[in-house]
Amino acid sequence: MSITDQIAAAGIVGCGGAGFPTHAKLKGTFEHLIINGAECEPLLRTDRYIMLNKADELVRALCAITKELNVPKCTIALKADYKDEIASLEKAIAKAGADIAIHRMESFYPAGDEQTIVYEVTGRVVPPAGIPGMVGCVVDNIATILAVNDALDGKPLTQKYLTVTGEVKHPMVLRVPVGTSFARCIELAGGALHSDYFVVSGGPMMGKPLTREQAANEVVTKTTSGILILPADGYHATQNEISVRHMLNRAKSACIQCSACSQLCPRHMLGHPIEPHRIMRKMAMANEIGEDLNDPVIRNAALCCECGVCEAYACPMGLQPRRINSLLKKQLGAAGIRYARPEGAEYEADPQRDARKVPSKRLAARVEVLPYYHYTIRELAEDQPAQVRIPLRMHIGAPSVPVVQAGDSVTAGQLIAKCPDGALGAAIHASISGKVVSVNDSIEISSAL
Ligand code: SF4
Ligand code: SF4
Repeated sequence: MSITDQIAAAGIVGCGGAGFPTHAKLKGTFEHLIINGAECEPLLRTDRYIMLNKADELVRALCAITKELNVPKCTIALKADYKDEIASLEKAIAKAGADIAIHRMESFYPAGDEQTIVYEVTGRVVPPAGIPGMVGCVVDNIATILAVNDALDGKPLTQKYLTVTGEVKHPMVLRVPVGTSFARCIELAGGALHSDYFVVSGGPMMGKPLTREQAANEVVTKTTSGILILPADGYHATQNEISVRHMLNRAKSACIQCSACSQLCPRHMLGHPIEPHRIMRKMAMANEIGEDLNDPVIRNAALCCECGVCEAYACPMGLQPRRINSLLKKQLGAAGIRYARPEGAEYEADPQRDARKVPSKRLAARVEVLPYYHYTIRELAEDQPAQVRIPLRMHIGAPSVPVVQAGDSVTAGQLIAKCPDGALGAAIHASISGKVVSVNDSIEISSAL
């Protein structure tokens, strides 16, 4: 079996982001494999834990990928501050005699953005709405590469590393079966410090905001990188409460057109034609979001990576360009409007880019997570819950198709849903042994029956 077939059979998808199926990403030729070890979201410690404790496994998987796919260059990019992780990786690289470079970056956000990391490592700009392959690169994250190591031994992706931090008794890294409830993960971290709290699934900048009630129904998926427990009346909770109408009214009345949002926008700084301040100006004149999707300025909202720098850091008026762009992107997508790159266009990063990088620590202060920023999380807890609920859509592409039904007995690692024939997608495997309780848009398994 080829390595991409092994990866497909293991159901591996990008563990740190949207969940693009890894076997599909590695198809085709490319000259540089870049591993994203930046873990740029303040507070997350999952990839750092893996780099510190699983460096040999990472190096083994990288050697296998580069050898079999004939990739001439491989670089792990991470922050220069991660001294212990760098020492651990260097030791593993030397032990294996591997040709893997380490690229040290400053501590800025979003260092782990795919297009940002390609520029940092190679000096090449991925064209707007393009992919790293257009400049000869592929980017994968640390946790994904650890899953590839397991796939080499025939083990599918059924266990997930994630960080649970914030207002919990014992912030820690967990390794739990896919489908474990958030409630169980919070319990493993000693429980929340207060009875009322707000939850973010992922990092404080790009994570998914959840009320306590919504979080009670969430489960760990292949892409869950963290669970943050934050104050019920803090920055994230209050931002989440602002209605679209109120957001638009504020854009009309308060945007002073200072253009700070564009000047600090990481994608604009890479030379991409997104200018959030111009989108905000259009919004000030609009009655509804998306009433003129054919406007070229509005269409450029498609180039927003939703990093949140504009609203969390740049805007002096507390406005929400990112949220407006996110709504516009959905409307552009629904209308089938894609960004059209001008023929022959070339892109260069702004000469001011370095001076406009956003320091991670100052950003953490702005989004009110500084109290947890310096946590050193070295502890790992593992768990084997009696019940899991595994969603059939944990990745980009078509939902997986169940191959089991209610009442079936399954063993951990057994295939329970397959990728539809000829479609982009991923296989899913049982993360615990037990009986299938139900099959709908997810598969519930219980070991207690
Ligand atoms: S969220 Fe804001 S800063 Fe980030 S890419 Fe979009 S417009 Fe630029
Ligand atoms: S930073 Fe805020 S006030 Fe300034 S142009 Fe952007 S949205 Fe308007």
